[in-house]
Amino acid sequence: MAADCIFCKIVAGEIPCFKVFEDEDTLAFMDINPVHPGHVLVIPREHYPNVFEVSDEAIAATARTARRVARAVRATLQPDGMNLLQCNGEAAAQSVLHFHMHVLPRAMNDRAALNWPLKPGNMDEIQSLSKRIARAVE
Ligand code: AMP
Repeated sequence: MAADCIFCKIVAGEIPCFKVFEDEDTLAFMDINPVHPGHVLVIPREHYPNVFEVSDEAIAATARTARRVARAVRATLQPDGMNLLQCNGEAAAQSVLHFHMHVLPRAMNDRAALNWPLKPGNMDEIQSLSKRIARAVE
């Protein structure tokens, strides 16, 4: 666990999240500033700042969970498309220095940009979607 890492605090249960899936190595929870409804983050439990430092095991476990969650998001929301996205460094708009993958549902012609502004979502809607997606994880 890294001091002052918000995602480490979520792993430790020190701050809450809308969890959709967890296993021994990873945790998946709703992004509270969703680009679109159903935007989920997948993280390894262990702290690594970025793709350059994450272990082979942790990135493999994160990718496995991301695909599992992506299937659940697709089953729940039937988006037009989906990005699995991972950011490293300031220019790439990485804002949390704990390796993570975005599972990002897309709408046709939504013009979503790679560096999107963080805008808080509706927490009731996010919570309700987290339950629906969690139920759809196989
Ligand atoms: P990145 O820009 O790739 O570092 O993405 C970090 C993401 O973490 C952003 O999309 C934020 O909205 C999201 N985020 C930050 N804090 C929290 C939190 N406490 N719970 C859920 N998502 C968060």
